Amino acid sequence: MAKPTGFLEYGRAAFPTRPVPERVRDYQEVYRSVPARVVRDQAARCKDCGIPFCQSGCPLGNVIPDWNDLVYRGQWRVAYERLQATNNFPEFTGRICPAPCEAACVLGINDEPVSIERIEQEIAERAFSEAWVIPAPPCRSGKRAVVVGSGPAGLACADQLNRAGHMVTVLERDDRIGGLLRYGIPDFKLEKWVLNRRLDLLRQEGVRFVTGAHLGVNYPVERLRQYDAMILCVGATAPGDLNIAGRDLRGIHFAFDFLRQQNKRVIGDNLEREGLVPVTAWGKDVIVIG
Ligand SMILES: Cc1cc2nc3c(=O)[nH]c(=O)nc-3n(C[C@H](O)[C@H](O)[C@H](O)COP(=O)(O)OP(=O)(O)OC[C@H]3O[C@@H](n4cnc5c(N)ncnc54)[C@H](O)[C@@H]3O)c2cc1C
Ligand code: SF4
Repeated sequence: MAKPTGFLEYGRAAFPTRPVPERVRDYQEVYRSVPARVVRDQAARCKDCGIPFCQSGCPLGNVIPDWNDLVYRGQWRVAYERLQATNNFPEFTGRICPAPCEAACVLGINDEPVSIERIEQEIAERAFSEAWVIPAPPCRSGKRAVVVGSGPAGLACADQLNRAGHMVTVLERDDRIGGLLRYGIPDFKLEKWVLNRRLDLLRQEGVRFVTGAHLGVNYPVERLRQYDAMILCVGATAPGDLNIAGRDLRGIHFAFDFLRQQNKRVIGDNLEREGLVPVTAWGKDVIVIG
């Protein structure tokens, strides 16, 4: 257990955000990093419950009380090892997960829950900054697998198969790897260098990425016969529509289309040259539904 009286001594920290006048001038992440001391105090709030509901609340089964204890004791490297044993990409989930673990945290019954997601992010970022995350190419099994789709599901799948020694190829119909991590989720939650850093690592470990490969369209299904196994991780790519009067009026756009364009714009792509008509509304009033 981190600190038996920790939850009595420390409240949940209000993690600092960048000032609004600064944020309106860029698209970068909103949260600032915090000193290790603050993270340690937050980890100290964990009660190491007999039944850790946080752990079963986490879709990955992250062993949260263990890494809270390790962070409190300053054993960050072991904390990272415990974290990455269940989580392929803690630097993503530590930023964008809806954190059902915190909703399940027992401390949250009569206090604010442990800042699990933020602790997770800090462990992951420290691991990268200390160079504990290094390419680890495996021994090869001689088997070949193809993963179709390069969103978080496809990437996690590719990582697991690669760790098991199989030669992995990821096919992606889009012009860049990442699925909705790339073209759905905006930079203010997840800057794209975080994604690129992980992709570089996967490449160095032997995962092969092929963009512009649309299975069933410009990439014939027959070509998949060269692989021993195929995993489909093609996502949904289907925005939810509204069947209401006036839906066909001009100027109604899906957030999905807007965010794709906006992410491309932030990357520096020329939308006009790509034949995309930019969804712009300068000087106009906009209503956002949802
Ligand atoms: C705007 C937005 C914000 C979000 N924010 C969050 C958040 O903050 N936190 C969170 O946890 N979740 C968030 N989500 C949800 C999250 O992004 C999705 O749950 C997640 O991306 C699904 O991962 P996936 O790998 O299954 O699919 P996707 O990310 O959709 O990836 C599927 C990939 O498959 C490719 N593909 C499809 N068909 C083919 C084919 N035939 N051949 C080759 N490639 C193909 C697609 O081009 C795509 O790249 C958000 C979603 C959106 C839209
Ligand atoms: S924030 Fe981390 S520990 Fe919590 S549910 Fe998400 S992945 Fe699991």
